[in-house]
Amino acid sequence: MYDLIIIGAGPAGLTAALYAGRSRLNVLLLEKLIPGGRILLTERIENFPGFPGGVATEELIQRMRAQVEELGVKIGAEEVKGLDPRLKTVEGAENKYCAKAIILAVGSRPRKLNIPGEERLTGRGVSYCATCDAPLFREKEVVIVGGGNAVAEEALYLARFAKKVSIIHRRSELRASQILQERLKKEGKINFILNHVVTEISGGVKLESLKIKDVNSGKEGIINSDGVFIYIGYEPETDFLKGKIALDEAGFIAGDETMKTSEEGVFACGDCRKKSLYQMINACGDGAVAADSAYKYISSK
Ligand code: NAP
Repeated sequence: MYDLIIIGAGPAGLTAALYAGRSRLNVLLLEKLIPGGRILLTERIENFPGFPGGVATEELIQRMRAQVEELGVKIGAEEVKGLDPRLKTVEGAENKYCAKAIILAVGSRPRKLNIPGEERLTGRGVSYCATCDAPLFREKEVVIVGGGNAVAEEALYLARFAKKVSIIHRRSELRASQILQERLKKEGKINFILNHVVTEISGGVKLESLKIKDVNSGKEGIINSDGVFIYIGYEPETDFLKGKIALDEAGFIAGDETMKTSEEGVFACGDCRKKSLYQMINACGDGAVAADSAYKYISSK
């Protein structure tokens, strides 16, 4: 029996654990893999205050982890399969846990294109993580799909290894921040295939080519590529919560500014929540608020 169980140890969950630990709650922080979450798919963080020139993501996460461990927060490595919001029980792959309050900091996963060949060639040229796989494409030609900040940052990272990086985006311009777009234009290896979508991924044992379509003319073409990196946004990891707490139509957890969910004593923070900006800075802010709300809830009982 814990005071508080936090599910997910990304920036939101780690910050919630920090604040809850400092409130002297007895906290269990559950994470299916290693602490850090999806942000570990990025090599460096440049927009977290206090780090001119940026900071290595792994270093920042290690520091956040050490900070919660020195407060006595217990970190458990176990995937959560279900929960009962009324009884405040959490069902892990191996154990069942119970607490007075629960914080959901379950984050999100990369969205897929859902086109022929994508699933079969994942790990054979199709990737969702440039930080993990870019070194496999040294001096090769790669494609990256999407138009947001993630595409811009990861294209720049890929350009350190690949011979050529082509950004394929369905609109006439990217929505990435201007500072990143300026860098993309300066980097000589990156070219843009705008107003196009990828409709099929082909290859034998590994990726060989992509079928693309001009969204205006409908004209189709083939481009040869050694790798395709897909960065078209994220979807919340909330499948196990369906029917347990209120989710919106896209699966994001509905809540208010105190991080309350539809269920009393269950709070949600970070990228699994519906909000207007998905950044590390406000994931951490959410985590602090969720821990404060959980503390007040537990104290009122
Ligand atoms: P995003 O901002 O949601 O952008 C996703 C991109 O993929 C959009 O350009 C979208 O096109 C395109 N897209 C979506 N579905 C598609 C499909 N089926 N086929 C083709 N293209 C598709 O996602 P993100 O870049 O992964 O970023 C996620 C969040 O993290 C954002 O809030 C972002 O600001 C944040 N982030 C911040 C940083 C940073 O601040 N340094 C770095 C990475 C991510 P449309 O433009 O047509 O919608």
